[in-house]
Amino acid sequence: MIVGAQWGDEGKGKIVDLLAQHSDVVVRYQGGPNAGHTIVADGETYKFRHMPSGLLWGKECVLGAGCVIDPDVFIEELDDAESRGLDTSRVRVSGNAHVIMPWHVAIDGASERRLGRLQIGTTRRGIGPAYADKSSRLGIRVQDLFDQKILRQKIEVALAEKNLWLERIYGAEPLELEDVAGRAERWAPRLRSHIADASLLVHQALLDGQDVLFEGAQGTLLDLDHGTYPFVTSSNPLAAAAATGTGIGPNRIDQVVGVAKAYVTRVGEGPFPTEIEGPNQERVRDLGGEYGTVTGRTRRCGWLDLVALRYAARLNGFTSLALTKLDVLSDFDELPVCTRYRLPDGTETPDFPAHQSDFHHADPVYEVVDGWREPLDEVESAAGLPDAARRYVELVERELGVPVSLIGTGQERERALAR
Ligand code: GDP
Repeated sequence: MIVGAQWGDEGKGKIVDLLAQHSDVVVRYQGGPNAGHTIVADGETYKFRHMPSGLLWGKECVLGAGCVIDPDVFIEELDDAESRGLDTSRVRVSGNAHVIMPWHVAIDGASERRLGRLQIGTTRRGIGPAYADKSSRLGIRVQDLFDQKILRQKIEVALAEKNLWLERIYGAEPLELEDVAGRAERWAPRLRSHIADASLLVHQALLDGQDVLFEGAQGTLLDLDHGTYPFVTSSNPLAAAAATGTGIGPNRIDQVVGVAKAYVTRVGEGPFPTEIEGPNQERVRDLGGEYGTVTGRTRRCGWLDLVALRYAARLNGFTSLALTKLDVLSDFDELPVCTRYRLPDGTETPDFPAHQSDFHHADPVYEVVDGWREPLDEVESAAGLPDAARRYVELVERELGVPVSLIGTGQERERALAR
């Protein structure tokens, strides 16, 4: 199980890609097409939104019931992958996954515009509204696409209400029934061969002794229940959600690898204690290429926050960590690492505050450690890291009590050191 340990964009795509080659099945269990993974393989850059990264290795790729699917995006990705010579015949989608309908996208954009300064900073791809309808039991599921009569009825019922919202509440254009229904009817033939019982498929694979890799999207601090609400995603990226989002028991998951950058980034709004002030903000952003895969939005950059990472280790039960983008820090004489927060009452704590107002007003307490100025491009093994870089990794292990099993030293697939 691979899970993002921060606010997403930790470089999970590369780690999943790396581990996918030794797996038989790769599963996504939550999220929608906001989750862009970037993988650089053999000089080619792949940007996956729905697709599990195992696609590059021709593995069985599964999208579980906990995902929300935008069929247009999904079909585009299938077409694109096929045009680049990838075999998509083993891509499977749970019929229980929910569909992101055109009104979800329209409402997502309109609602963020209406919130103005208070906006959540969603990717405006309809994911939040689709999950909201799922919880309200108004959603349309992938399996509904295959009964055209019922589908049209469901669309008609939904549109009657959604158009009221769009027009009256948001002052936006309503959607036309014929447009939406026509679009939806074209999805079924292209999707049919990819529909599967994802729970049974994974269960059977495990019974057969196959290796199954679960691929978390977003990150721990974006978790709907345990993240920095309301600046969170609308699903549960935590490791435990792999069980519900796929339909297997939690005891089937035996290893949980947290993926964390050697620093921190955050997209969108919300508190961020270790956000870098001054010119180093832009320096880290440029060195790390911190611009969103799907949206192109600039990411806010911060120094490594071990308080938040300790929280992630607790919430997910990490058995090891993959520390990515260590190479990005190869340009500093000194590096601040946050080991505790100072709360408004003056106390210091190693633990993530349970109350949001404490978190909003928490100041980072830094341990300043030596940097290293040597690039890591030529480093072939963990033992070959500059001393200061090795001490940086060891500090993380000591503070969290979790071993760092992989270190990322560059964008390419092979730039990961095993420890
Ligand atoms: P994900 O959603 O967690 O997979 O993260 P993204 O793919 O959005 O962002 C990670 C970015 O960092 C991608 O452009 C990767 O190619 C890149 N990346 C991953 N690991 C490393 C690394 O160790 N060093 C460097 N420099 N870049 C990396």
